[in-house]
Amino acid sequence: MLKVTFLGTGGSLPTTNRNPSAIMVNRDGELIMFDCGEGAQQQMMRAKTGMMNLSSIFITHFHADHILGIPGLVQTMSFQGRTEPLTIYGPEWVEEFVKFLTAMGYYKLKFEINAIRLKSGESIKRDGYSIVALNTEHNVPSIGYALVEAERPGRFDRDKAIELGVPVGPLFSKLHHGGSVEVGGRVISAEDVVGDPRPGRTIVYSGDTRPCLGVLKASDGADLLIHDSTLADNMIDWAKESMHSTAGEAAALAKKAGVKKLVLTHLSSRYSDDATPLLNDAKALFKDVILAEDLLVIEVPLSDD
Ligand SMILES: [Zn+2]
Ligand SMILES: [Zn+2]
Repeated sequence: MLKVTFLGTGGSLPTTNRNPSAIMVNRDGELIMFDCGEGAQQQMMRAKTGMMNLSSIFITHFHADHILGIPGLVQTMSFQGRTEPLTIYGPEWVEEFVKFLTAMGYYKLKFEINAIRLKSGESIKRDGYSIVALNTEHNVPSIGYALVEAERPGRFDRDKAIELGVPVGPLFSKLHHGGSVEVGGRVISAEDVVGDPRPGRTIVYSGDTRPCLGVLKASDGADLLIHDSTLADNMIDWAKESMHSTAGEAAALAKKAGVKKLVLTHLSSRYSDDATPLLNDAKALFKDVILAEDLLVIEVPLSDD
């Protein structure tokens, strides 16, 4: 399972229907957050994502709209008896942030919080996937992230295995996972019955940024790109000055990278009543695009090829 829940989709300021940036990813039961804006924990309750299995929070940058949800969230997890450590990753200043977070004297946490600083290009290896830090271009130190799953074994040709005399049962699994088996004095190897490895899924999250090479490269053929789309194209001058992207710029990057799906997020509060100008700008360039909404859930399927 690879499920993305948008907890907050507004840019900079919360509105009545959009919280600041926060994204929850559930990968086979492990919870991973990307940014954690104000109100994220209540959004988790509304979306029923759970919070105790949260292993890590990946922060793109330390603007308030991406981090203010953390103090309340950690306090709640402590009240609920969490003892497992939590790791917060981010660009420079993550160590200072965690120091402030844990020094807020009015409560004592029952679990440890670790801070790990990441530079673009560095990656965190986990069981079955990696999180890669990407170079982004904002007006404070910032990084984006790609969640990249490991390759899966190729398709198992069951008919061929039977034809070669392999009995149905545990030998199938051995072959599928790269082993060789002996049947009637003949060695049958994985290559005889297993196709080429199949790619895992990739999700890219830009955080706040101008369109940039780091995100473009990481998005090459990605299943899902979640991109800064603070403003409509007619506000491009302000997007450049504030180091954000327009919807059209996000779509142009998605098209160039050949992603399967684009989600526009971090929408400015000026579109709180009507965000269709953003969708129209993007759709003119790229078809498979949707506007993020708070509590939107996207499941990323495994591709079958
Ligand atoms: Zn922001
Ligand atoms: Zn920002």
